[in-house]
Amino acid sequence: MLKNRIKSLAQEFKTEIISNRRHLHAHPELSFQEHNTAAFVEAQLQSYGISEMERKAETGIVVLIKGKNPDKKTVALRGDMDALPIVEQNDVPYKSIHPGVMHACGHDVHTASLLGVAKILNEIKDQFEGTVKLIFQPGEELIPGGASLMIKDKVLENPKPSGIIGQHVMPLIPVGKVGFRKGMYMASADELYITVKGKGGHGAMPETLVDPVLIAAHMIVALQQVVSRNASPKTPSVLSFGRIEALGATNIIPNEVKIQGTFRTLDEAWRAKAHGHMVKIATGIAEGMGGTVDFEVRKGYPFLKNSPELTGRAQKAAIDYLGEENVLDLDIWMAAEDFSYYTQEIDGCFYRLGTRNEAKGIVSGVHTPTFDIDENALEIGAGLMAWLALNELAS
Ligand SMILES: [Zn+2]
Ligand SMILES: [Zn+2]
Repeated sequence: MLKNRIKSLAQEFKTEIISNRRHLHAHPELSFQEHNTAAFVEAQLQSYGISEMERKAETGIVVLIKGKNPDKKTVALRGDMDALPIVEQNDVPYKSIHPGVMHACGHDVHTASLLGVAKILNEIKDQFEGTVKLIFQPGEELIPGGASLMIKDKVLENPKPSGIIGQHVMPLIPVGKVGFRKGMYMASADELYITVKGKGGHGAMPETLVDPVLIAAHMIVALQQVVSRNASPKTPSVLSFGRIEALGATNIIPNEVKIQGTFRTLDEAWRAKAHGHMVKIATGIAEGMGGTVDFEVRKGYPFLKNSPELTGRAQKAAIDYLGEENVLDLDIWMAAEDFSYYTQEIDGCFYRLGTRNEAKGIVSGVHTPTFDIDENALEIGAGLMAWLALNELAS
């Protein structure tokens, strides 16, 4: 039976998948600088006897694993390869040797898993029909997102996949388990850069000033109404300001104040409308108080919607592979992911791979300097993904 064959191959290749993950973890590269990572991936694929691969978006790689009757159907699997500008604080043999760069979002895990999938599927390519397209993408962590560049470089064409599946580590989920969610899953994320301009001077002479500190304070309060009064209660939205910079002193009012924030939601039409509301409110307040405002909305990734059909099939296949008790239903997650660009083009399923192990002290969140995984997750990361791809090809 194919499922058992995949399970035993995943077990057989586990040591190699772990060693690949450790190599990648020790040699992280920042977004769009994944040159050595891409060369490593290519060398591994070649060592498996896989030659059908192509560079996309400079440091991205697309690979075709063709079964029998390869034109019948194509399914894509995606792994991201970039690391983050974080100083690693783990004391492990595979600690980052690149100062200030760390695989703190588990993209080393995703890349190593996808390499494992390549090796597994290549071994059994005479046992399935159709083609599996493996996408190793750069730059998930940085706008405009490697996914958007890969799509521009025609990664979803020739052959066009009927659907795409991606996995991401989740340190909230215990190792051995995975999580799925049909429909709306992750948020769009836009960065807000606001500069409030007034007229500074001595704090004791307010009649000669236009105080940008006071304008900024009113603005932050007033902008709360975008979520509380303008957004539909049925659509999750969040507006947060995390930085406010007024470089005055007890007795000095500065000329300008800078504010930075993030706006996230799960509806593209509302997202565009909200941008308009924010600019209008901020402009009205600034002008009403005698100042001006520059309001820049730097658009990030769109919201991520999992195809209910594809995700339903994948979740069923995961239950078949791991058992019902190891497949969880996920809640909405207000972080953003550039996998969403693929889901705007074709059906997608983005699921979570459990990596937590409290007994071993592996509990840190992604994007923290102590993030790590229980490496037993890698056998599932590779095996399950291979199984999901073949299940989808056969559906
Ligand atoms: Zn991340
Ligand atoms: Zn990530």
